Amino acid sequence: MKAEIISIGTELLLGEIADTNSAYLASQLPSLGIDLHFISTVGDNQQRLVGTLQQAWQRSDVIIATGGLGPTQDDITREAIAELFHEEITIDPDLVKKFEDLFKHYKIDMPRSNIKQAGVIPSAQIIPNPRGTAPGWWIERDNRILITMPGPPREMQLMWANELLPKLQQRMGGTVILSKTLKTFGLTEARVDESVSPFLSAANPTLATYAKVDGIHLRITSKAQTTKEAQRLIAQREVDIRAILDDHIWGADFDTLESIVGASLTAKGLTLASMESYTGGLLANIITNVAGSSSYFKGGLVAYSDETRAGFGLDAQLISRHGTISAEIAEAMATAAREKLGAAIGLGLTAATGPTEVEGKPIGTIFVGIDDGQRRQSFARNYPGNRLQVKQRAVTSALFELRRILL
Ligand code: AMP
Ligand code: MG
Repeated sequence: MKAEIISIGTELLLGEIADTNSAYLASQLPSLGIDLHFISTVGDNQQRLVGTLQQAWQRSDVIIATGGLGPTQDDITREAIAELFHEEITIDPDLVKKFEDLFKHYKIDMPRSNIKQAGVIPSAQIIPNPRGTAPGWWIERDNRILITMPGPPREMQLMWANELLPKLQQRMGGTVILSKTLKTFGLTEARVDESVSPFLSAANPTLATYAKVDGIHLRITSKAQTTKEAQRLIAQREVDIRAILDDHIWGADFDTLESIVGASLTAKGLTLASMESYTGGLLANIITNVAGSSSYFKGGLVAYSDETRAGFGLDAQLISRHGTISAEIAEAMATAAREKLGAAIGLGLTAATGPTEVEGKPIGTIFVGIDDGQRRQSFARNYPGNRLQVKQRAVTSALFELRRILL
């Protein structure tokens, strides 16, 4: 099955909002075994929309459109589809009644313009919208499927998950599609891609790489007649990939570095404390994303000025000798955090986050210090990116190195 996504709305063409609907839907299709061939964006113009739909109808088996289903004059997706199929729009009294009840519930008068959203054509099956008035449409003709959904992402995503995903799954009939994501850190996407290249062209299971803030992810997707066979294909490919990428792989699927580090600290009965400078508390923030982190995380200090660094017990002479962005200071921060907060392990993090060089250190220079009471060590890393990306990568580096040591 060849699919095409159409995003409808002039605001998308003006760059006022980003087309997150297409990205969301695109990410949903591989596991259905549906190949996405095109994503198009078209403004609120009936003639161009009909043209875009016509083209899609000729070249794709499944067309998924979002947007243009609102009550206002500029929302014309229903009208354009009616024109495409030469059908008449009529108002569905059941839908009107539903809207009236909904507005009554919120104690507001229903604007007359909402009636428009109760319009249907004979070939459309109505898809309920639990989060709004605009229903979706499912149209099946000539062995093709056309789906329309409202533009607001929270309405679209629920409608997709509750109604359309199961409908398409059923349509794809009998095939089991499973995926597993392996998560790596410390290698560039090009390097990961290169090292697994023989598997990237395989048809089943397929393999794809994605660059994320916490590293490069590899998604293995298999198709089979039974779940067992699909699982076997994935397991086999996972073995191949692990043999190559080895300890760069830190987790899978829903794992996060902070959850893995947390589980490992809990298993070993260890506690953690952190001191960070230019990441401004992001490390402590991420660590505490894990429910139950208070059982192992003692706290985080943010040393953002010379006075604070002195107050936290960092040696001014050491700082003037090596600079605040250095292995020595990262280690000293780890020790200070460990001692001040009474934890088994201290984690120190300092990084040149930009936009200009600091102390002659290029943007993206990261130092992670770890003191476990027996040994003090540090790691130097460098990652490109803007200020926010460097902060995020610094935090990922710190958690990645801590995980390695805990193992
Ligand atoms: P509409 O169905 O055209 O009335 O869409 C209403 C709102 O949904 C828009 O103003 C946007 O905020 C949002 N929206 C529409 N299309 C998209 C899209 N492709 N990606 C993200 N948000 C969207
Ligand atoms: Mg719109």
